[in-house]
Amino acid sequence: MNLLPWQTEQWKQLVDRRRQGKLPHAILLSGSAGIGKHQFAELFAAGLICNKSNDDGSACGQCRSCLLLQAGNHPDMVRIEPEEVGKAIKVDQIRNLSSFTVLSAHVDGGYKVVLIDPAENMNKASANSLLKTLEEPAKNTVLLLVTSSPQRLLPTIRSRCQRIDFITPDHSSASAWLQAQQVSQPEQWLEIASGAPLTALQLSNSAEKEDKDIAKHYQTGLDTLEALLAQQQDPLSVATAWQKTNSLRAVGWLTNWVIDIIRLASLSTSANSAQKPPYMTCPSQLSRLKGLATQLDLDGLHGYLERLYETSRLLGTTQVNEQLLLEEILIRWTALPKNRL
Ligand SMILES: [Zn+2]
Repeated sequence: MNLLPWQTEQWKQLVDRRRQGKLPHAILLSGSAGIGKHQFAELFAAGLICNKSNDDGSACGQCRSCLLLQAGNHPDMVRIEPEEVGKAIKVDQIRNLSSFTVLSAHVDGGYKVVLIDPAENMNKASANSLLKTLEEPAKNTVLLLVTSSPQRLLPTIRSRCQRIDFITPDHSSASAWLQAQQVSQPEQWLEIASGAPLTALQLSNSAEKEDKDIAKHYQTGLDTLEALLAQQQDPLSVATAWQKTNSLRAVGWLTNWVIDIIRLASLSTSANSAQKPPYMTCPSQLSRLKGLATQLDLDGLHGYLERLYETSRLLGTTQVNEQLLLEEILIRWTALPKNRL
């Protein structure tokens, strides 16, 4: 496991703080899903746990602490995640932390590390319990909270953490990295993963039927949107189908396509229409997106994009009616053609 090339700034920032003896007690690692925040947290934690860490803050990989950590049973490292994927982190899982943090590290002068991922999955009781730990920092204990939805954390938790932001790498770095991981057709996988390289890598390597279906859904997504415009499919049944797969991912694709359509439509209305196509998020769909750009109303698309961002935000929260949200954006999609306004 190596430091990802687009995370060197964040690494340097934390290692410098550590060297100055000013490492925050709680760190919130925030950024989109699938860009490597968890991997970063594991690497940083390993460097803290190691007895003889390298000058660059990485773990030596050979000392007793490193070997224990690799074997998965280091007493100074605790990982907290939902017991089932997608479920809440329960209060009992957090409550046990207080007894962990009061102990001194097993290695003299060493760190103890708690890694909570995804931190936004803490329910209210868990979050309140964590607050107590955050309010009484234990010596040489570092809490690493990983999240792709920081807005879902309690403001009181956010304010007690030092936040480190991770950005989605630009397309060419992501693509070069995927190529170095032996991924064939990296561009295609990046499109499907909405630019998130680790998601792209996982999907391209996966033998799971569910993952293979994602590539198919991506390819048929624009068919569906065209069929909706031609009134050959109805928004309600499409919403039901999307809900059965992954609403957030489907809305993410729609958002990327709409961004590209806006770029293409803006170009055709500008005086410089002879210039080459703009930067595209989804180049593999260029000709179809061009066709949609001539059909759809540009002002309507701008408003629609705002609505899509809001929908993604709402889908990331709990207790929303996904079906209704999806129906609404699909019905609005059918009202976008120029002649229908
Ligand atoms: Zn070591």
